[in-house]
Amino acid sequence: MQSFPTAKDAALTLRPDVPVYCFRPDVLTADAKRFMAAFPGDTAYAVKTNGEPMVLETLSKAGIRIFDVASPGEFAAVAAAQPDAEMLYMHPVKAQSDIRLALETYGIRVMSLDHEDEVAKILRIVRALDLDPGSITLFVRLQTKGSAAYELSKKFGAAPAHAVELLQRCHKIGFKVGLCFHVGSQIEDPETYERALASADWVRNRADVPLAGLDVGGGFPAEYGHDPRRKKREMPGQDEIMARLRADLVERAFDDLPLVAEPGRVIVARAFSLIVRVLLRKGKRLYINDGIWASLSDSWTGKITLPARFIPDPARTRRNGDPKNIQAFKVCGATCDSVDILSRPFWLPETVDTGDWIEIGHIGAYSLSLRTRFNGFYPDSFVEVTTPFDAGAAAEGYASLETMAD
Ligand SMILES: *Cc1c(COP(=O)(O)O)cnc(C)c1O
Repeated sequence: MQSFPTAKDAALTLRPDVPVYCFRPDVLTADAKRFMAAFPGDTAYAVKTNGEPMVLETLSKAGIRIFDVASPGEFAAVAAAQPDAEMLYMHPVKAQSDIRLALETYGIRVMSLDHEDEVAKILRIVRALDLDPGSITLFVRLQTKGSAAYELSKKFGAAPAHAVELLQRCHKIGFKVGLCFHVGSQIEDPETYERALASADWVRNRADVPLAGLDVGGGFPAEYGHDPRRKKREMPGQDEIMARLRADLVERAFDDLPLVAEPGRVIVARAFSLIVRVLLRKGKRLYINDGIWASLSDSWTGKITLPARFIPDPARTRRNGDPKNIQAFKVCGATCDSVDILSRPFWLPETVDTGDWIEIGHIGAYSLSLRTRFNGFYPDSFVEVTTPFDAGAAAEGYASLETMAD
């Protein structure tokens, strides 16, 4: 992979017409280590966030030993990057053939569930493989209520009374049991974990069975941009969220249990930026060579403002406007699909024009993992970049990234 000090250097050297992902292994390593140091338990990276071999290998070198996986494709990706890694199969609804593959081929011994039919499925295969249920830990996934940009408890999780029943059922069969929840991605309310822990506490007391662990899932927010016209939403930084979580774990007396977290976004978001090209400017609209069917679907919900930096093409000698004047531009994606328009604008100098590049920052999470081949577009070019996105100068049109909260 070619390496450049900054994305601007890469853009001006390569003059790319296709989107280019800028990978920052040092940032990934630092963010993984920061999380591991702050969380009082095991860190299991959620592979779905970004399962590229370069990411899994870098995390492996950074000291991540445990991975949260959900499919045969993810089992294989982790095994290829780190043959002795531990995998937690935390998808509550699994195909029988995948459960068998996990137990038999990959030696996975931790799974989650939220329904008695899943217990029956797992037990059938455990018996068929002649495994001791006591060698397997089943985490009962608890429903949570909270506020996250991506609310997942609507889809998975047992209500508290049901979770009590499931814990007792699994314990009676002879499985080790644990409790887990996943509050959704990019939490927007710092009390989210507190509420989930209160519910987990209630379930633990009612179930009255020995617990082998508590898994607090993911959801830890990454840093994005914001609309410069509006007041910045107050959200505590990672250090404060972690400090509160640690205090809540102690208060609810979960701190004597083995703890696990499954962060994805907060570890990998800053590790990539994306260079896109303006294929056409039409008034206040920019048509770019990426979009919601490739790297930018995560921003489509309208909950995230991606930070953007202007990389003007030096070959363009005539420009209109004042480069210090930052304006909102509507961004249209590469495909012919009329829904392929970003729901939030990019904030850029009003001089931006056809042929210029834009570096979109903090795009490592839920971007390349969600690429499709729709309409024949499939961005797949990578360079390495050594300077963090947020270390760049604001003067270039670094328009919408919030200042670091901590
Ligand atoms: C997606 C997912 C995660 C990772 O969530 P982030 O918000 O990216 O940290 C963790 N656990 C489970 C079960 C998930 O589905």
